[in-house]
Amino acid sequence: MTEQHVYDVVVIGCGPAGLSAAINVKVRNRDVVVLGTEQCSPPLDKAPRIVNYLGFTGVTGVRLREKFVEHARIMGVDIKRARVDAIMPMDDVFMVTSREEVYLGRTVIIATGTPYRPRLGGEQEFLGRGLGYCATCDGPLYRGKDVAIIAHSPEAEVEANFMGEICRKVYYLPLYGPPTALEDTVQVVEGKPTKVLGSKVVNALQVGDTMLKVDGVFIVGAETPPERLFPGIELEDNHIRVNRQQETSVPRVYAAGDCTGPPYQIAKAVGEGLVAGLAAAKLVVALRPRGTSQPA
Ligand SMILES: Cc1cc2nc3c(=O)[nH]c(=O)nc-3n(C[C@H](O)[C@H](O)[C@H](O)COP(=O)(O)OP(=O)(O)OC[C@H]3O[C@@H](n4cnc5c(N)ncnc54)[C@H](O)[C@@H]3O)c2cc1C
Repeated sequence: MTEQHVYDVVVIGCGPAGLSAAINVKVRNRDVVVLGTEQCSPPLDKAPRIVNYLGFTGVTGVRLREKFVEHARIMGVDIKRARVDAIMPMDDVFMVTSREEVYLGRTVIIATGTPYRPRLGGEQEFLGRGLGYCATCDGPLYRGKDVAIIAHSPEAEVEANFMGEICRKVYYLPLYGPPTALEDTVQVVEGKPTKVLGSKVVNALQVGDTMLKVDGVFIVGAETPPERLFPGIELEDNHIRVNRQQETSVPRVYAAGDCTGPPYQIAKAVGEGLVAGLAAAKLVVALRPRGTSQPA
């Protein structure tokens, strides 16, 4: 059996903070992978005109994002499409898991953007009692039942199709635009979900004036709450607590950008990414096994 590759640095998130971190790890000639969602930086996508990022006055967020991604690719940064579900410490490496694959890293940089805040009525009350954030993880519990998927990004379509194979009914509420890859087994419902209802467990979802009778509700593809990625990581006002080296409360795990708190600005994200990247790159020299001074 071939041994799985261990990266010096695994960066989670391909927005300005994550890409800046990865470029600076590369500059220091360390081995790095970026795990990002389909859309690198949803906030940049929504920024019509940016006037405060040095050297780019009046640029659109989309254009700036293209320049960031192009820069990373020119530097040889490997950006993989993977939504990370969890970071788990294992002896001297971290196991970073997504639905598709597992990655190993000596250090990890979290750059996942603003943390998720619950915004649906009853969301916290029913969490774990019919409400969840990963449909495919809990899928078997809902075999033959009815579920609703509240989708914040197109990645949710894969989860909905999977649930369509095992559930009696799958309602799909796209909050990002028209879905493009749904199977016939999934029923699209227009409208904004407002409240999860139930007694001991979920039994309905309120969507405008309509009440969908369901056994489960999944919120998929929204921002990542840091404590779900790494249970126990220290937070401060819902953001990841870091010091000036961008170190978190977990040794060898760094954080940068909006996930560490305001101001939510590109220059701050890029600057923190740089600090985290350089700090991680410096640390891995000490962590590498003897005789492996340079990455292949
Ligand atoms: C409308 C609007 C206008 C703005 N205008 C300005 C402006 O004029 N000037 C300015 O400086 N800033 C502006 N901003 C803010 C700026 O866009 C953010 O501060 C910046 O994008 C933060 O970068 P980041 O890398 O920390 O996070 P993000 O850009 O949010 O990137 C985080 C990335 O991580 C990914 N991710 C999240 N969870 C996971 C996971 N579990 N696995 C893998 N990937 C994950 C996300 O999908 C995203 O791609 C604006 C924001 C908005 C919404």
